[in-house]
Amino acid sequence: MKSLLPVEQIRAQFPILNENPHGKPLVYLDSAATSQKPRFVLQRLQAYYEHENANVYRGVYTLSARATEAYEQARAHVAAFIHAPAPEEVIFVRGTTEAINLVADRWGRENLQPGDEVVVTPLEHHSNLVPWQHICAERGATLRYAELAEDGSLPVENVAAVVGPRTKLVAVAHISNVLGTILPVREIAELAHQNGALCLIDGAQAVPHLPVDVQQIGCDFYAFSGHKMLGPTGIGCLWAKRSILDAMDPWLYGGEMISRVTRVSSTFKESPYKFEGGTPNIAGAVGLDAALTFLEQVGMERITEHESALTEYALSRLSEIKGLQWYGPKERGGIVTFNLEGIHPHDVATVLDNEDICVRAGHHCAQPLMSWLSCTATVRASFYLYNTFEEVDALCAGLLKAKEFFHHAVV
Ligand code: PMP
Repeated sequence: MKSLLPVEQIRAQFPILNENPHGKPLVYLDSAATSQKPRFVLQRLQAYYEHENANVYRGVYTLSARATEAYEQARAHVAAFIHAPAPEEVIFVRGTTEAINLVADRWGRENLQPGDEVVVTPLEHHSNLVPWQHICAERGATLRYAELAEDGSLPVENVAAVVGPRTKLVAVAHISNVLGTILPVREIAELAHQNGALCLIDGAQAVPHLPVDVQQIGCDFYAFSGHKMLGPTGIGCLWAKRSILDAMDPWLYGGEMISRVTRVSSTFKESPYKFEGGTPNIAGAVGLDAALTFLEQVGMERITEHESALTEYALSRLSEIKGLQWYGPKERGGIVTFNLEGIHPHDVATVLDNEDICVRAGHHCAQPLMSWLSCTATVRASFYLYNTFEEVDALCAGLLKAKEFFHHAVV
């Protein structure tokens, strides 16, 4: 099949795709866990350490000014990438998990009262579930679930059924990391606001794969991770509306985030600095800046279309395999999740690994969703801009090998 992207040209820029641990061409189908990194990002990291490295804000000297400029340029780039109104609304964190914990730990503790409700869905990654369980228990608030439709989609009516005057927050994924379900986030944010609640979106699986405009979505918080979008590990972002950030207390207390400190008390800087105590991941931010440039050069719309074509093809090819059940709605992001009847997902993944095909097997940090699917684990293949139709064929051939290997009489 013909690709919408110059995939071979793109692939040539990802050195790791030349690795072949078992002597076969590497088929990397686990970008939902973490993406691979183009040379452009790797070189930017090296250049940063060779020519700009110093601590930010502290030095009067030129290198420190360079590091500060590079770090703040990254913040401005992130803001532009997600169409945030201002760079000051972007807080650098380690990743989505830390971003959501920051909101739960600060906004949640400051705003949730006994009797209040937080609404989530059964498809949430544990990162957008466990922090809410924890803070709800602490504050005497209740966690409620907007139920999924039978195919794993989330009709907005199901959210409306549980959102009401007690709701303080609706916290949902933009795209499910298991089913690929794309949630109607704009409608969900509107519904939350109509009921006087705020809306948090876990965008870990969305920002890397489709154009995101936080103002158009109308949410209040949006969280994502750099490592899933060609950037380094250890850098991620929380975007939130300025008025909400201003009303929140600082997070990590210490260096970089203070205005003035006396023996007995301190005053703090404004957002985003009051949430970024300590030396930040400067190189991580700089690498993310380069990753955004790379993604923009390829074009986010084209990436979405490419993944959509791959996913459609994958679902049709997987449907041909007897004994294979895939989960989730037809309309989805670039993720396919399935089981082969009678073969444990870990065994499937091990056979595929022998073919140098990298997939994820397990509960994908979404155990309530596994219960909803009535299984304990699944196999997941996820696509990105460097994947090809031939790789989908290789996956299907690998799955037939797994069936053969386990001598399973699947009918
Ligand atoms: N939410 C979703 C939907 C995810 O897919 C992931 C990563 N698997 C996370 C949150 C957590 O991201 P991180 O591990 O980068 O904090």
